Amino acid sequence: MSNISTGRLSTIVVSVIFFAGSFGMYLWMDMMDGSPKVVSGKIVGYYVMDHSAMAIVLMIAILCAITLILALVWPYVAGNNRSDTRPAALQCPRCGGPVRKDYMACPSCTLPLLQACPGCGERLPASYNACPRCGNVIRNPHSP
Ligand SMILES: [Zn+2]
Ligand SMILES: [Zn+2]
Repeated sequence: MSNISTGRLSTIVVSVIFFAGSFGMYLWMDMMDGSPKVVSGKIVGYYVMDHSAMAIVLMIAILCAITLILALVWPYVAGNNRSDTRPAALQCPRCGGPVRKDYMACPSCTLPLLQACPGCGERLPASYNACPRCGNVIRNPHSP
C-alpha cells in the first residue's frame, strides 16, 4: 500500500531533477577543467573552470541528495507510529470483504459473524453453541 503524499512525491521529483542537473554539471565542469581547447585541429589553450563555482555546484548536488534521502526514508521515520496505532482491518473469513469486529454478519456475503445470546444478549461468535457468560445453550443453526 503506497502512502506517498503529493507533497512528498513532488519533493522527491524536484530533488532528483536538481541532483541530476547539479551533479551532471559538476561532472561536466570536472571533465572540461584542464582539457585542451581545440580550434580547427590546433590546441589554442586549456579550459580553466572556476573551482569555487564547482564547489558550490557540488554542494547543491549533495544537498539535493540529502533532501532526496530524507524524503524517501521519511515515512519509515515518521509514519510508523501512526500505522501502529491504526486498528488492524478485519476480513470476512468467507469472502475476504472488509468487516468490523462489531458486525453481526458480513455485509458482502451475509456470512453470520456474531450472534446475540438469547439468554443475556451477549454478542458471541457465530460458531458458539453455548454462551460462556450465562451458560445458555444456543441452538446454533450455523454449526455443522
Ligand atoms: Zn463475506
Ligand atoms: Zn448469555
